[in-house]
Amino acid sequence: MTAAISVTGLRKAYGDHTVLDGIDLHVPRGTVFSLLGANGAGKTTTVKILSTLVGADAGDIRVEGHDVTREPDAVRAAIGVTGQFSAVDKLLTGAENLRLMADLNQLPRGEGRERVTRLLERFDLTTAAGKPAGTYSGGMTRRLDLAMTLIGSPRVIFLDEPTTGLDPRSRREVWQIVRSLVAGGVTIFLTTQYLEEADELADRIAVLDGGRIVAEGTPGDLKRRIPGGHVRLGFADERRLSAALRVLGDATREDDSLALRVPSDGSLTALKTLIGRLDERAVEVGELSVHTPDLDDVFLALTDRKAASR
Ligand code: ATP
Repeated sequence: MTAAISVTGLRKAYGDHTVLDGIDLHVPRGTVFSLLGANGAGKTTTVKILSTLVGADAGDIRVEGHDVTREPDAVRAAIGVTGQFSAVDKLLTGAENLRLMADLNQLPRGEGRERVTRLLERFDLTTAAGKPAGTYSGGMTRRLDLAMTLIGSPRVIFLDEPTTGLDPRSRREVWQIVRSLVAGGVTIFLTTQYLEEADELADRIAVLDGGRIVAEGTPGDLKRRIPGGHVRLGFADERRLSAALRVLGDATREDDSLALRVPSDGSLTALKTLIGRLDERAVEVGELSVHTPDLDDVFLALTDRKAASR
């Protein structure tokens, strides 16, 4: 099956500043891929190259099977881009902004009108449709911006920091929209500075640092790579806790509670082994919970390690 996005050996330099130093990416259709990186890591540059706005120096780059250099028009027809700076014209009303996009996408008049109405409903903008976009809240503007991206029914959507500056409620609304798009088969390429956002939405995450992808995997894969993960075991009484401590050896007791912490990567194999050891000695466990480091830990550890080795 053709990947939505497939990139091999992508390089880009501005003068003698190498921004992307050989990047490989593979994004299956209907999934959310998140590119993480510190400010200036090259996220926006990657989005610009994938969306044909900027040329690459080297690499094989395909979006929906089309080569970005040789078939830029086919790529543009398949994608939508919502950047850090919204495309909304604040002097026009919400409906006018959408109609303008319908015209730019050369939709037949009737179809364009119908799609505008449907998108206004879907994004809860019907009541505000006749008001100038300049009077909209941040969340409404972002919803309008996303609706404008969807006018052309793109198969792949690039969201460059889509929730920067939004309050938590509006951010959740955008997340809901992203989830419903993916459920409809759309592929999302997301850059974000909020690790929580990548954790919530992304099927796979790649961390960009020093011009290279320094880690890639599911949010869970990445968290398991970082030390600090543990399993917490709770017991009904002191006797069971002591028995477990004898069996496990490397566990530490949590203060003032009938609980033990066992260092673990939280993987299924590690959990099976742990439970097997306790089962063998008939030690009864009351509760079990897995604690993995969050993506903040992962991000700091990966980018710090890289900085330290430079
Ligand atoms: P941010 O989170 O701050 O948006 P980013 O990861 O998106 O960061 P880019 O905007 O891709 O980073 O920039 C990567 C590097 O390339 C930066 O050092 C930037 O200064 C440089 N850069 C980007 N565009 C140009 C350009 N047109 N000319 C020269 N240098 C550029």
